[in-house]
Amino acid sequence: MTDQPLLSIRHLTRQFPGSPRPAVSNLSFEIAPGEILALIGPSGCGKTTSLRMIAGFQIPDEGRILLSGRDITRVAPEKRGIGMVFQDYALFPHMTVGENVMFGARAASARWLGHWLELVGLQDYADRYPDELSGGQQQRVALARSFAAEPGLILLDEPFSNLDAALRAQTRREIRRLLKSTGIGILLVTHDQEEAMSFADRIAVMQGGVLQQIGTAAEVYDRPVNAFVAGFLGRTNLLKGAARGDLCQTPLGALPLARPAEGEVQLSLRPEMIRLTPAPEAEANGRITSVEFRGHDVTYWVDCSGLELQVDAMGGPRLCEGAPVLLQIEGRLVPLG
Ligand code: ATP
Repeated sequence: MTDQPLLSIRHLTRQFPGSPRPAVSNLSFEIAPGEILALIGPSGCGKTTSLRMIAGFQIPDEGRILLSGRDITRVAPEKRGIGMVFQDYALFPHMTVGENVMFGARAASARWLGHWLELVGLQDYADRYPDELSGGQQQRVALARSFAAEPGLILLDEPFSNLDAALRAQTRREIRRLLKSTGIGILLVTHDQEEAMSFADRIAVMQGGVLQQIGTAAEVYDRPVNAFVAGFLGRTNLLKGAARGDLCQTPLGALPLARPAEGEVQLSLRPEMIRLTPAPEAEANGRITSVEFRGHDVTYWVDCSGLELQVDAMGGPRLCEGAPVLLQIEGRLVPLG
């Protein structure tokens, strides 16, 4: 084991000519060997530009890119030793699955081919052509091809976007398992926060070309640094409060904070952190104003001292519009920057 990062991005900046602000601004992060990092953010936030700089199709105005300690900032794409799987897989249509996988492979033996085809579950498909495969199978061929070249790092750009929801989740699970057995590092670009959270070891959230936060899915979901990150990763209630250390006065009473703060703060309270119980009118502190039933869970909209809060409940009693309820906060509110 080595402590050296696989990929180290240092202060990357890229501004397109005529553009008022950089597409990517002072971006820094690292990927450890064998780690899966997802770069996420809304359309136009700079994900693709970042990926293209790492791949070598764009040269940054400032900053450096190191792969296993080697400066590759200005190295030609094909000399970087980085694998890539993009949205359209780009398989060669006139080549069989086997020929596609062996294209650029590190070793040219039937054993090597068999190894990678077996890994992606396509050992019986070596002689088929891409147009004889399903979308998910094509995607796995594209992955096998990039694995067979044995790069330390593979860039994945929205690689699951052509699959329907069920196949997407299954392919994602399988590929994560495969990747973990190879030790290859991955940088995944996606605009899908659920995909990022379930697939990656850590996620990096970008907005307007600027990295907002990086951490495990749980860290970023549970402890967002600002309202953008809180809202991008899921639904939340934003409240105002007056903080003093790790306690905060809010319209819902004095509540504990996830990290200490002072003065006027904005707070994030996830809908699943509120528990509702039916209560007699005199003991209630809220009233249900609408109900969104989704089967395995329900979102209640609750009026609480003039605040409209969303509350997610799984199981428990079914509550109706107009019902008086007692709200209890479980966990700590997150003060946002
Ligand atoms: P999406 O999810 O829509 O693909 P993204 O996060 O990948 O978006 P980028 O494609 O990196 O975003 O774009 C970042 C910004 O840079 C956008 O404002 C975009 O309009 C701009 N941009 C991207 N490519 C160019 C280019 N070749 N010339 C000028 N501006 C560009």
